[in-house]
Amino acid sequence: MSQQPIRIIGAGIGGLTLGRCLLKHGVPAVLYERMPSTPRHGYGITLHASSYRPLLEVLGLDEWTFRRRIAVDGSVGGSGNIDPELLVYPGKIDPSSSFRAHREKLEKLLRQGLDVQWENALEKVEETPSGVALCLQSTQKLESTCVIGVDGPHSNTRKSLSPNTPLKVLPYVAFNGKRHVKRALFDEVYAPAIRGSNLVETRLGDVVLTVFVNEKQADAVNVGWTYSRPARGSTDMLHKPNRPVSGATDIPEEFFQEIEALQELRQPFKEIFDAEKLRMERVLHWLMRTVLVSHQELCTFVGKGVFFMGDSVHAEPILGGEGAENAIIDGIELAKCISTHGPAGIRAWYDSRYPTWESSVKESERAIEKMHGGQKVDPQL
Ligand SMILES: Cc1cc2nc3c(=O)[nH]c(=O)nc-3n(C[C@H](O)[C@H](O)[C@H](O)COP(=O)(O)OP(=O)(O)OC[C@H]3O[C@@H](n4cnc5c(N)ncnc54)[C@H](O)[C@@H]3O)c2cc1C
Repeated sequence: MSQQPIRIIGAGIGGLTLGRCLLKHGVPAVLYERMPSTPRHGYGITLHASSYRPLLEVLGLDEWTFRRRIAVDGSVGGSGNIDPELLVYPGKIDPSSSFRAHREKLEKLLRQGLDVQWENALEKVEETPSGVALCLQSTQKLESTCVIGVDGPHSNTRKSLSPNTPLKVLPYVAFNGKRHVKRALFDEVYAPAIRGSNLVETRLGDVVLTVFVNEKQADAVNVGWTYSRPARGSTDMLHKPNRPVSGATDIPEEFFQEIEALQELRQPFKEIFDAEKLRMERVLHWLMRTVLVSHQELCTFVGKGVFFMGDSVHAEPILGGEGAENAIIDGIELAKCISTHGPAGIRAWYDSRYPTWESSVKESERAIEKMHGGQKVDPQL
C-alpha cells in the first residue's frame, strides 16, 4: 500500500463518504475541495435504505438517530417522511425507509474527523513519467500515486485526462427556486396538502410541478420547487442545452409567461407558482445532464494511479436520477476495496461496479421520461 495518503478530489457526497469510510478502515486520506466549508447545499435530497443503511455502522448511529439528525424536518422532530402517493413518479420510494435528507447536514455529519482542504481547487492533472501531478489552486504541484476524482459532473480530473467524454444534455426544460415561508402560512396553506410528507408533485399534461421542504424550523420553512417539462421542438425558448454555467440565472420572460398560463392550480402549487412572486425571487435554470465515461477509458488511467467514482464519471439528471444514492454506495464499496486490496484492487472493482453505473444512467433517462408522462422526446433537440 502506498505511504502517501489517498488524495480525494472533491468533498461532496461521494468524496466525504469515501473519506469517512477510509478513516474507519484506518487508511489516511486528504480531500481537496474547491468551495469554502460553509454555506453548502441548503436543500433536501432523497435517500434510500440501500445507500444509507450500510453507512450507519461507519457513523456509529442507529437508523432513527441518523434520520432525525439529517432529515429536512429533523429539527422539529420529523424524520423526512415521503408519501409516494403524492408523487407522479415514485420510482424507488419506500415510505418506510426512503426519506428527505438535508444535504448540508448529511455532509457535515460525514466530514467529521476528515482532513479537508477547503478552497483548494484542482486546476488540472498532469501526466508524469511515474504517475501524475496534481495542479492545485493553493499548493505547489503535488506528485501523487493514488488520486480519486470525485469532483462532480464538471470534474477537472476527468476533463484533464478524458477531455472528449461528453456531457449529454437531455431534452427537458427545468427551473428551480426556493422561498422562505413563515410557519403560520406553511401550516395553513402547505401542510394540509402535503400532509405528513416533505415532497408533493402534480402533472399538468407533460408539465411536472414539484414542491418540497428544504428545511423546516419552528418559526419558518424553506420551501423548494421545480417546474419541468419535455423540450418542445427547436424553437423552444426555454430549452438552452448549450448555455454556459454562468447562464443558470438568466431566466427568459417566456418562463414567467408559462407560469401565468397555468390554470386552476390547487394548493400548495397555487401559492408557490405565483409568477409575480417568482419574478422577485432567484430562479435557476437547470440542465438535465448525464455523463458516462467508458470502462475502457477508466482502465487506461489505472496505471497512472488515477481513479474515479460518483458524478465525475456517471452523472444522472437531478430529476429522476439517483446520483446521491450511487455516490454513497461507490464511496462505501471503494473504501472497502482499497482497505482490503490497496489501489491495485480498483481495476477489479471497476469491473464489478461498472455495469451498475451503466444501467443506472440508462434508468435515469427512462425515469425522467416516465415522470413527464412517458412520451419519447427527440434526443436531438
Ligand atoms: C439540487 C439538487 C438536488 C438533488 N437531489 C437528489 C436526490 O433527491 N437524490 C439523489 O440521489 N441525487 C440528487 N442530486 C444529485 C446528487 O446530489 C449528486 O448525484 C451527488 O452529490 C453526487 O456526488 P459526488 O460526490 O459525485 O458529486 P458532488 O456531491 O457534486 O461533489 C463534487 C464536489 O467536488 C467539488 N469540486 C468540483 N470541482 C472541483 C475542483 N476542480 N477541485 C476540487 N473540488 C471540486 C464540488 O464543489 C463538490 O463539493 C441532487 C443534486 C442537486 C444539485
